[in-house]
Amino acid sequence: MTEPTNRLAGLKIDFGGGSPLGGISLVQTPDVALAAGGPATGTDAPERTETKVLIIGSGPAGLTAAIYAARANLEPIVLAGSAPGGQLMLTSEVENFPGFPDGIEGPELMGRIRAQAERFATVFVDQDVDRVDLSARPYRAWARGIEYRGETLIIATGASAIWLELESEQRLRGRGVSACATCDGFFFRDREIAVVGGGDSAMEEAAYLTRFASKVHLLHRRDGFRASKIMIDRIYGNPKIQVHTNTEVAEVLGDAKVTGLRLRDAQDGSERNLPLEGLFIAIGHRPNTGAFKTWLDTDEKGYLLPHEHTASRIPGVFIAGDVADHRYRQAVTAAGDGCRAAIDAERWLEETAATSQTGGLAATA
Ligand SMILES: Cc1cc2nc3c(=O)[nH]c(=O)nc-3n(C[C@H](O)[C@H](O)[C@H](O)COP(=O)(O)OP(=O)(O)OC[C@H]3O[C@@H](n4cnc5c(N)ncnc54)[C@H](O)[C@@H]3O)c2cc1C
Repeated sequence: MTEPTNRLAGLKIDFGGGSPLGGISLVQTPDVALAAGGPATGTDAPERTETKVLIIGSGPAGLTAAIYAARANLEPIVLAGSAPGGQLMLTSEVENFPGFPDGIEGPELMGRIRAQAERFATVFVDQDVDRVDLSARPYRAWARGIEYRGETLIIATGASAIWLELESEQRLRGRGVSACATCDGFFFRDREIAVVGGGDSAMEEAAYLTRFASKVHLLHRRDGFRASKIMIDRIYGNPKIQVHTNTEVAEVLGDAKVTGLRLRDAQDGSERNLPLEGLFIAIGHRPNTGAFKTWLDTDEKGYLLPHEHTASRIPGVFIAGDVADHRYRQAVTAAGDGCRAAIDAERWLEETAATSQTGGLAATA
């Protein structure tokens, strides 16, 4: 298989197969030095640190915002994070992003979207933002001690799936282990699989996966479920789902791909093996809001809360993608949000420039 186009911080993806049943692994190339704040990629002395649109995050939301802002001559700076390209860098085949009838590998898709943003004069800094100051315009963000200033700010830092943190689970990610049923369920047609989790999302994913899988084992480490009663009833009434309570995953079995699970009884510690081909982890997502949550409103799950369209409660600060979305969590919805946020930022700049006499870069630019 040819190596995917990759302009993402020297990170290469080593694909062993074309679907989550095949395999991928992230390989750090020698020119990338790991350090706090992300890989050093030659952006330690960025060519610009001030912009009309400062974008934090470089998944589908941040990169699409960059394309729109750049094409509006707003010369965006993208603080792309230590995982440039976002979550799709961790998946192989993407079959539901419009425009690719034969599917496209996640890293290649992200490389292409980034190249499109670069074409229109976007500056990229592949580092994490560790703190922001949103008390006044221009809004300020710091990455590796360098201060960046934006008349507007678009936050597109995504959300990270919570994993079991087993060595075997991490090794087999993309080789039968997934955290996205909507994305990868299709690849498990007529296969026996398991879902781990005890909340509504785990129930929804298990029910959804019965459309493809021959059998779905729902594994939950406790006796009772956190999910709503209606979801629990639906799960127990589904002949394709077998529920295993008091059951933990001790190990994901398999070398090149998942071949089974070693399960542990949470009460008596006894272990048994369960042969199957896929494992979906549905124990939640953590929105990447660390630097912003003291400034912006969050919902009960910790996701950033837009107020009107993509606008946050702070004028000129906009929110896009999975960092505010625990419902859809798709590349195309995140990209759509990025577009909306950039258009909202552009309009806000225009309106502010028209009405403002003092303060902020908008008035002086
Ligand atoms: C295994 C897997 C497979 C998937 N497959 C599909 C699929 O087939 N189709 C589909 O539509 N969707 C798929 N998804 C979902 C899709 O990847 C997400 O919905 C989408 O990537 C969300 O985009 P985003 O831009 O909001 O955030 P993300 O993609 O999460 O990107 C967030 C960005 O923010 C950056 N960041 C985070 N914190 C900071 C910080 N402090 N400072 C600077 N930057 C920061 C990160 O480095 C990253 O670049 C999959 C997800 C997973 C996990």
